[in-house]
Amino acid sequence: MGQTQDNSSNKYFNRYVALLAMVGDPEFVDFLAEARPQVVQMGFYGPQLYALGDTDLGSGYPMRLPVRGIDQVLEWQKDFNQQVHRLGGKVIGHFSMTTTWGDPKEKTGFFESYDDSWPTNLLGPKPVEQIADLVQKSADGQMIVGDRYGFPWVVGCSNNPHWRQLHRKMVEIAITECDVDGFVSLYNYNHGCACEYCNQAFRIYLKNQYSSREILSQFGIDDIAEFCLDGKLGKVVGWIDTDSPHPVNLQLEAMRFSQLSWKHHYDEVFVKTGRKLKPDLILGSWNHLGFVGHHERNVMPKELWGRDEDLLWYSSGGQFGTVAEGDAGIRMLNLKFIWELSGHKLPVLGRYEGTRTRASIAEGLACQGPGMGLYCNWKDPDGRKAFIDYFHFAEEFEAYFHPVKSHAEVALVFPRQSVLAGDDQPVERFRQIGQFLMDEHVLFDVLSDQKISAERLNQYRSIVLTKTVALSQNQTDLLAEYAAQGNPVIVTSDSVGPVDGNIRPDWFTEHKKIFSISLDNRSELLSLLRDEINGGLSQFDTMWAVRVNAYQQPGRIIIHLVNYNRIESEAGGSANESPIATIDIGVNLRLRECHKQVTRVTFLSPEPPYREDLTWDREEMQSQDRLRFQIRSMLVYGIVVIELSE
Ligand SMILES: [Zn+2]
Repeated sequence: MGQTQDNSSNKYFNRYVALLAMVGDPEFVDFLAEARPQVVQMGFYGPQLYALGDTDLGSGYPMRLPVRGIDQVLEWQKDFNQQVHRLGGKVIGHFSMTTTWGDPKEKTGFFESYDDSWPTNLLGPKPVEQIADLVQKSADGQMIVGDRYGFPWVVGCSNNPHWRQLHRKMVEIAITECDVDGFVSLYNYNHGCACEYCNQAFRIYLKNQYSSREILSQFGIDDIAEFCLDGKLGKVVGWIDTDSPHPVNLQLEAMRFSQLSWKHHYDEVFVKTGRKLKPDLILGSWNHLGFVGHHERNVMPKELWGRDEDLLWYSSGGQFGTVAEGDAGIRMLNLKFIWELSGHKLPVLGRYEGTRTRASIAEGLACQGPGMGLYCNWKDPDGRKAFIDYFHFAEEFEAYFHPVKSHAEVALVFPRQSVLAGDDQPVERFRQIGQFLMDEHVLFDVLSDQKISAERLNQYRSIVLTKTVALSQNQTDLLAEYAAQGNPVIVTSDSVGPVDGNIRPDWFTEHKKIFSISLDNRSELLSLLRDEINGGLSQFDTMWAVRVNAYQQPGRIIIHLVNYNRIESEAGGSANESPIATIDIGVNLRLRECHKQVTRVTFLSPEPPYREDLTWDREEMQSQDRLRFQIRSMLVYGIVVIELSE
C-alpha cells in the first residue's frame, strides 16, 4: 500500500504540450524553445501512418501529415524529435491500437497501401494475405467497419497475433528510426469482436478461471467448447445491456476479457518490445472518462490498471461547464480519481476547448498532472503567453511539485467494487458528493474501495462512503475500528440498513462515530465533518469556484488554488478566458503536531502579484494547531508554500 505515500518512483513532468494534428510550421519549434516543455506529444507511428502516409488523405485531419510518403513522414518526425531533443525536451507519439483508416469497397487508405505499396523494407513481408485476417469482426465473420472524421475505418484486433506482430515492428521503427521517446496509445476499443482469435481466447479465459459447473451456473453456458461471442459481448467502452439475453456476469466477464486483451497487447508492443529498445520509454494511453463515467478500463483488475504506464490521458468530453451553471471545474474529480487508481501517476484531462487555457493548465498542476492535454493555442498570442507563463512558473518552482504525498484530511471512497459487481448507481452519488466537497473546499482524496487498508484509513481524519453493500467483511471491520478510534465514517447512501451487505445490523448504533445521512442533506455532511472530526477541518474562505488541494513534502506543506471564475461569453479563444480575480482568500489550515513550527508562508503565482510573503498569528498557531493567513488577490492559479522547521 506504499502508493499512498510519496510518488517519487513514478515518472513526473508537468510542462507538457499535446497536439493531435501535427504542426509542420517551423515557428512551432520557436514556441517550444520559448515555452520549454519537458514533453511534447506529437506525431504518428502506428497503423494510421502506414494506412494514409502515402495517400492524399494523410494531409487532412486528424493527422495533418506535413509531408507525403511513409519514409518522408518518418524522416520528418525524426528531424522534429531531434530538434526537441536539442531543446532539452522529449517527444511521445500517437499510436493507434485498433483503428486504421480505409474503405474496403473503395479500396482506399489501408486497403490501397496494403495491396499496392506495402513497405516491406520497413515492416517485412505482409503478415497475412488480406486485411480481413487482421481486424475485428462481427459474429457473421464480416469486418467491422465504421466512419470517423468523415473517413471510413476498420479496426485491428488485440487478440490477433498478426496484428500484434505488425505493431511490434512499427514500435521498433519508431524507436530505432525516429528516436521517439514514448507512445500514447489511441483507440483502445473493442467493437464487439467475434473473430476466431477472440473466441478461442475467451473460451480459454473462462476455462482457466471457472469450472464447467460455474460456467453453466454463472454464465449460462452449458458447453464452453461450442460457445461463440455474439458481436455485442465484450464491447469496450461498454456497460451492461439490460436487453441482452446474456447474464450480467457474462457481460461483465466478456468486458473484462476485452480490457485484459488490450492490456496484454499494449504490454507486448510497448513494454516488452519498446522498453527493451529504450528502457525509459514514456508510456501513456488515451482513454475516455466523461465525468467519472464508464471507460476503457472500468472493470480492469486493479493490479493492471495503468501498470507500466506513466501518463493516464483521459478525455473528459466536450462538456465544458460554466460557473453560471455551478459547473466550473468539477472535472478535477476525474484527476483525483485517476491519481488514485493509477497509484499516483500522471493524470491528464483532454479538454476539447481552447478558451480556459490558464485554468486547464492550472487544474492539472494542482492535481499532480501536467495540465491541459489537447489544443495548445500556440499561435494565439494569449494562448501562447498562457503556456509560456505557466511553464516558466512550473519550471522556476519545480521543487514544490514533485515528489509529494497528499495532505488531504478526508477520503471520498470510490465504489469500484460495486461497479465490478455490475452496479454503477453509487457512482452518481460519488460524483455529487465529490463536487460538493470541492465546492466546500474540503481537502480530500479519492480512495478506491479496493484499496481500503488500515494504513490508508489512518491517513485521513474522516471517510465518506456512497455505498457500503459491496464492502467485504474485512473492510467493514477496518472501518468500524477506524470509527472506534474517534474518526467519523459517514455513509451518504439512501440504502443503508441491516441488509446492506456485510454491514452488521448494529453498525450504525454500536459506533457513535458512524453516521448515515441522506444524499440530499449535504449541509449535514459538512456539519458532521466540521463537528465530528476532533479538532475540525481546515477551512478556506473563498468563492465555491475556487478549488483547493494540499500536499506535503519534507519540511513543507504546499497548497494549490485554482480559480475558475470568469466572465463567461459565447466568444472562444484564450483571449476570452477573462478570469475574474478572487480577493481576500482566508486560509485556516489545521496543523498536525509535527507541522507546528511554521517559519515562512509564501504565496506564488504565474500572475500578479507573483509573490507575496504572508503573515500569521504565531500564538494561535501554537495554542490552536491552526495556521491562519490571508491571500490578498489571485487571478487563476497560485500555490502557498508553508515552510516548517525540522
Ligand atoms: Zn478479435
